[in-house]
Amino acid sequence: MGQITLSSVTKSFGEVHVIPPLDLQINDGEFVVFVGPSGCGKSTLLRLIAGLEDISAGRIDIDGRDATHAPPAERGLAMVFQSYALYPHMTVRKNIAFPLKMAKLPQAEQERKVENAARILNLTSYLNRRPGQLSGGQRQRVAIGRAIVREPAAFLFDEPLSNLDAALRVTMRQEISELHQSLKTTMIYVTHDQVEAMTMADKIVVLNAGRIEQVGAPLELYAHPRNLFVAGFIGSPKMNFISGSEAAKHGAHTIGVRPEHITVGDGPWEGVVGLSEHLGSDSFIKVEVPGMGTINVRAPGEVGVHHGQTIRLAPAGKIHRFDDKGMAL
Ligand code: ADP
Ligand code: MG
Repeated sequence: MGQITLSSVTKSFGEVHVIPPLDLQINDGEFVVFVGPSGCGKSTLLRLIAGLEDISAGRIDIDGRDATHAPPAERGLAMVFQSYALYPHMTVRKNIAFPLKMAKLPQAEQERKVENAARILNLTSYLNRRPGQLSGGQRQRVAIGRAIVREPAAFLFDEPLSNLDAALRVTMRQEISELHQSLKTTMIYVTHDQVEAMTMADKIVVLNAGRIEQVGAPLELYAHPRNLFVAGFIGSPKMNFISGSEAAKHGAHTIGVRPEHITVGDGPWEGVVGLSEHLGSDSFIKVEVPGMGTINVRAPGEVGVHHGQTIRLAPAGKIHRFDDKGMAL
């Protein structure tokens, strides 16, 4: 189980309206990512689902039961925070067992569940250490272990990897994806990082100022963003937006072309190379095209261009079209 339905969920802090009425369906077993810029209301929405904040209006159902005013402990959800929130004086074993001890589970059952979680998370040989004797990634795994033993209907993650360095973030994000594949439990994961959203989600919810801009599978959002916000947020490097006469040729107010959908060589656009970054696998090139502005191009690693060179470009993939309200045509 782990089906969560939000109906006209609204949240204000006094005069500050953070979440306007919002509807969302999260299905059992889904990996749902809330993504959006800092301050857009991701954490607030997650905390409303967890019951850590009261909702101002609307309704939350969990597994078909009205949970709108249920206290956090009765919702059957387990939250994992960026800050780990571990007890420094307790061993890993005691940290993981903590919710089971609170629930007064028999000792033998506590031990069985802790050992099982430790095995899943590769923490078995660390059970007698304290958090201070662990790396950041291991501490985050302990926090996840403490959530696993509760066997929740859903896991709620709030930017759990933000405190880790880049390489460890990649490893941990794969571990969490694998954990989802083995547990098959609903997971709601909050991040401002669109790469995490793209790589982990079954379903991405793009938030902007508390509103849902679009809900969809990662590649659906990549291929069919419904407005300029989603088009600019999903994908790295960012989609190029071009307006003026070039867009008018396509019957649009603005056109969008992804950097990876532009080829260098022949083509209708001529410009001068500004900064070019050669990563080996790819080259990121900025080209100043008169009347269009700076166009970012993602070219093959071995593309031979240099600063100041005049080159020609061709759009070689989908041209996204938007109207004057920024909505996809
Ligand atoms: P995110 O997690 O997407 O960065 P938050 O949900 O933390 O965003 O915050 C969304 C907005 O709500 C922000 O403008 C923030 O200042 C405001 N906010 C969050 N919590 C409170 C609070 N307790 N009181 C007043 N404003 C808050
Ligand atoms: Mg947040």
